[in-house]
Amino acid sequence: EPVLRLSGIEKTYNAGKPSEIRVLRGADLTIEPGEIVALVAPSGAGKSTLLHIAGLLDTPSAGIVEIAGQDMTGRGDRRRTRVRREDVGFVYQFHHLLPEFSALENVMLPQLANGATRATAKARALELLSHVGVEERASHRPADMSGGEQQRVAFCRALANAPRLLLADEPTGNLDPATADQVFAALMALARETGLAALIATHNLELAARMDRCVRLEAGVLVPA
Ligand code: ADP
Ligand code: ADP
Repeated sequence: EPVLRLSGIEKTYNAGKPSEIRVLRGADLTIEPGEIVALVAPSGAGKSTLLHIAGLLDTPSAGIVEIAGQDMTGRGDRRRTRVRREDVGFVYQFHHLLPEFSALENVMLPQLANGATRATAKARALELLSHVGVEERASHRPADMSGGEQQRVAFCRALANAPRLLLADEPTGNLDPATADQVFAALMALARETGLAALIATHNLELAARMDRCVRLEAGVLVPA
């Protein structure tokens, strides 16, 4: 079954006011397990809106969001929060790592919050960090790491609880091209190994071309790119 299915997603902000804006007008998207999909669009087209709806951080004005076969329409906050915690990982343009904690602790925390033991959380965190080549930075705080290293740790944190779906909003937008390339390669390798599905918004068309598929957000709908 698909990891993510969006059907007829509409989103209108400030409905009925002079400032009303229809950002999404019937967006459809299906992502199968293991598929890495690029999302491209000009700034302001609604990429963040779409990612927030797909990740259950926001609700659509109309349409259906299904995660791993579960229709999330009309589900209460508790259920949505549980599905988001268990099945969805997020990465943003800026890493949002907790500054007072080490890389290792940043990757352990979401696992501890989900009930993992310290030993289990630590072992998984170290495994993830070594997969993306930052195991030597395990005891460093974010401020003592490079931008590329910080972003790799952010990916590890997003994958800490083994979500089925990764949603990323310009994850390499803040990095120089060579570093972006390295971080992207590390992510792809990790995704391939774990069968993770991902929707990755990017302005970088070179990276988009290396994903399995590319969709463009255009006038509120998704079209193949
Ligand atoms: P992108 O991520 O592609 O840059 P966004 O999803 O952030 O686009 O925004 C799409 C449009 O919706 C923009 O015009 C933005 O100003 C507007 N928008 C986003 N969030 C809100 C909000 N909470 N209230 C009103 N308008 C919003
Ligand atoms: P920007 O696009 O300005 O860089 P971010 O990409 O950092 O902003 O996105 C921050 C957004 O994350 C906020 O608009 C907020 O809606 C959303 N958000 C809310 N709750 C959470 C959460 N629990 N985890 C991740 N993101 C969240």
